[in-house]
Amino acid sequence: MRFCVRCGREFKQEQLIQGYCVECFKEYIGVFEYKPALKIVICPKCLSWLFRGEWLTPGDLEEIVKTTSLSELNKCIRSSLQLNDLSVLGINQERDKIRVKLKLSLKTETVTFTTVEEVTGNVKYRVCPRCIAKSSGKYTHLIQIRFTRKNPPSYVLEDLEKLLQKLLLQSGVINVKYYESGIDLELDDATIARRIVQSITREFSAKSTTSFKATKFDYKKGSWRGVLTYSLRIPIFERGEVVIYKETLHIVEDLKKNKVVLFNPNSGTREEVSLSSYWTGELKSPSRVEVEHYIVKDIRGDKIIAVSENSKSELVIKKKQSTPQVKIGDTILLIKANNIESIVIDKSSLLR
Ligand SMILES: [Zn+2]
Ligand SMILES: [Zn+2]
Repeated sequence: MRFCVRCGREFKQEQLIQGYCVECFKEYIGVFEYKPALKIVICPKCLSWLFRGEWLTPGDLEEIVKTTSLSELNKCIRSSLQLNDLSVLGINQERDKIRVKLKLSLKTETVTFTTVEEVTGNVKYRVCPRCIAKSSGKYTHLIQIRFTRKNPPSYVLEDLEKLLQKLLLQSGVINVKYYESGIDLELDDATIARRIVQSITREFSAKSTTSFKATKFDYKKGSWRGVLTYSLRIPIFERGEVVIYKETLHIVEDLKKNKVVLFNPNSGTREEVSLSSYWTGELKSPSRVEVEHYIVKDIRGDKIIAVSENSKSELVIKKKQSTPQVKIGDTILLIKANNIESIVIDKSSLLR
C-alpha cells in the first residue's frame, strides 16, 4: 500500500497518479497541462461550421462543442492522461463568449476516472465561402442533366431526384434549376461536381461530356477563370418498344435504373442488358419500325406459308425446332426495324 502525497490516505500503488489519489490529482494538479480555449466559427447564413480548415455541414451547438472540445482538449490534457470520451453537460453562451460544462472520461495506464470541467471559448460568425459565392450567384461548375428523349418516364425522374437529394446533402451546390428538358446544378466545388457526375454516370448509364467556358483571365494565377460544364445524357427506353440489340430485333420487356430486359421474339429468349450498351452502339433505337400482318394459309411439311393481309405477298417460313405450333388462320407478324426483319409467330409473347 502507498499513501497519497497530498491527503495521506492509503491507496494501492496502481490507484495513484504521480503519487496523488484521483481526488487530489483533480484538485491540486488538474487534468490540463494548460487551459483549453474553444474556438468555434459558424456561418450565420447556412450554419455550417469551420473545423480544421474545413466547412462542415450544419450541426447543433452541442455537437459542434463536442467535436471541437475533443480536438482541443486532446492538445491540453496532461501527457500522463488519455481522453477516452467526453459529454457536454451544459452550454452557456453570452454573445461571443461561451462556457461549457464537460464530463471527461480519462485514463492513465492503471486508473480510469471521470471529472467535470468547465471550459471557456468564443464563438465567431463568419460567412462561409459557399454562401459568399451563393450571394454573388457565381458558380464554377455546371452540371446539365438531360435525356436521350424529350419526356423521360416518371420513374427515371423519381430515381434521379432521390439520388440528387442524397448527393445534395453533401452540399457544395449553389443552385438547382429545373427545366422541361432536365435539371441544372450550379456548384462551386470541383470535387463535389465530379462526385455527382460520377454517381449519375454510374447509376443511370449517363454519358458525360465536358466543356470549359472562359470568362476572365486571372493574371495572378496566369490562367483563365470560367465555368466547367458537364453535359450528362441519360438513355431512355420504354416498355414494349422495339429495339435493335447486337443487330437483332428485340422488345423492351422491363426497365431498371441502368438496365433493360430485352425479349427476342425470334428465339423466345430474354437478356438483361446494361444501358451503357446504348453508347457503344450495341443497343439502338430504330428510326423506323413497320409491322406487317400475315395469315397462315398452308402448312406443308416443314414449311409454313402465310399471306400478307395488305399486300397479299407470300411469306414462306421454314420450321425449326424452336418454332411454336401454328395452325391455318393464325396471324404471324413480320416486324421490320431499320433493315432488320423479325418474324413473330407466337404473338402472345409480345403481350406479356
Ligand atoms: Zn489524496
Ligand atoms: Zn454558409
